[in-house]
Amino acid sequence: MTTHTAPKKRIIIVGAGAFGLSTALYLQRYHKQHVDVLLLDSQPFPSVDSASGNDTSRAIRPDYTDSFYSNLAKDAMHAWSTDPVFSSHYKQSGRLAAAAPGVPFLQRCRETLKTVGLEVEEFGEMDKAQNLKKKFPMLGDVEKLKGWDFYYNPHAGWANPKEAVISAMKEYQALGGKFIGDSKRGKVVDNLIVDGDDNQLAAAITGRIVGVKTADGRAHHAEHVIYAIGSFSTSQKTLLPGLETQIHPTGFAIAHWKLDDPDELKAWLHHPVVDMYHFGYFFPPDPSTHLMKLGLGIMGFTHDHETDDGDTGVGIARANSALAGSSHEGRIPPIAEEGIRWILSHWAPSLAQKKFFDMKMCWDAMTPDGGWLIDNHPQVQGLSVATGGSGHGFKFLPVVGQFICEALNLVQTEAVGSVTPRSTDHRKRQMREKWKWGRKGNLNVKDRRVALQGRPILNVVEHLESDRCHDIDSIIRSRL
Ligand SMILES: Cc1cc2nc3c(=O)[nH]c(=O)nc-3n(C[C@H](O)[C@H](O)[C@H](O)COP(=O)(O)OP(=O)(O)OC[C@H]3O[C@@H](n4cnc5c(N)ncnc54)[C@H](O)[C@@H]3O)c2cc1C
Repeated sequence: MTTHTAPKKRIIIVGAGAFGLSTALYLQRYHKQHVDVLLLDSQPFPSVDSASGNDTSRAIRPDYTDSFYSNLAKDAMHAWSTDPVFSSHYKQSGRLAAAAPGVPFLQRCRETLKTVGLEVEEFGEMDKAQNLKKKFPMLGDVEKLKGWDFYYNPHAGWANPKEAVISAMKEYQALGGKFIGDSKRGKVVDNLIVDGDDNQLAAAITGRIVGVKTADGRAHHAEHVIYAIGSFSTSQKTLLPGLETQIHPTGFAIAHWKLDDPDELKAWLHHPVVDMYHFGYFFPPDPSTHLMKLGLGIMGFTHDHETDDGDTGVGIARANSALAGSSHEGRIPPIAEEGIRWILSHWAPSLAQKKFFDMKMCWDAMTPDGGWLIDNHPQVQGLSVATGGSGHGFKFLPVVGQFICEALNLVQTEAVGSVTPRSTDHRKRQMREKWKWGRKGNLNVKDRRVALQGRPILNVVEHLESDRCHDIDSIIRSRL
């Protein structure tokens, strides 16, 4: 007697950043008897275009105003501490959360953290900045921090994203996972869609997806295709038809500096991540490279450029891979550098005049409401999207693949051995509601500042080519 085994479901995941790689790893680890995964990326791994693999530090924290994300982050942090693929890349430095005078954000985070069972440390009402200095002597210009709100959360830290994704990819490939990272063989340029009885290959907006075409002209067939291409979701309209204003690709400026003096290094080593809400955040030195980094959040950048198939209306991400050898490589707009120095002059005065290097723009997919976009496409059967990291997606690298599979209802079997428990039905309902395609607040949002909660969005090319820095004062004043 022969036993009949169902053929494996073929799944193509496009994009090997945090969302795509985590999904591929989860499926390969726990469901490989039932699925056959192919992971594609348009760049050699880790992609220089990715928000996940092209930087030195990412904050890992449970501080949110929405307990739904705080609870997901708690699961992620458990995995960062216990999953051997990730644990050596996580440093529990703690995090100082700060907000400008009058901004209620921190108070809301305190309340959420309490509801998920986490306590933070306060600095008292009087002499707050002096008390901060007692705990973290290198932090803060006491005069300049008058009126700022801040607390210290010991249940937080940071990770080196490049090292963490390399570790995840190693595990995925060691388990037999297939990956192509290449500007021709891995870059997806078209969907293969069959429409009803008409078995023609066509870029239709309705029908059933049967695979994708890559830039080398090859067809890859699958029953399910998941786009996890982050800020590149808008680069080619035909890949995710009807996406419209649900994703706003936004660039953020980052700069590094090195601590060469051993005493200075020692003084900074045990400092926390410092995150000034909507201004930017910087990291303690990496113990092995002695590098520190600040990511600027007070402004975002956009790149208006028409794609081959017309204007997306929301701009497209500017690929770092396309800048190699150009005069813009390794540069950020001068106004961004001014912003970074302003933040340091307030929060870490001894670092404000450091020589910066490894400066670059890093792009992420921002949604107008700040939630992720993880759903099945409403018109194309078998096509899904998993994106919208919105500046906070990386910390979920160890677990977001499971959440994506749960939200998309991709696998029916139990994941035996996973460090993250299966989501309850209640949480799954919340995921589907919060990450839904076509959420009202994300459609028809032409004002790009909405995706940055009112912060300014500047044109990156214009600002790289001018040394116009004077606007920085008015931008800062408008946030204080
Ligand atoms: C400056 C900055 C700082 C941040 N700081 C934090 C932080 O401290 N903590 C935190 O949790 N999050 C942070 N984030 C957010 C986080 O990094 C992102 O939300 C997350 O990494 C997004 O992952 P992703 O998989 O959606 O996209 P990405 O990592 O960008 O991956 C997309 C991938 O798709 C590939 N791709 C694109 N087009 C194609 C195509 N046509 N075919 C095949 N492949 C393609 C790209 O090469 C890339 O590898 C930050 C983001 C930025 C920009």
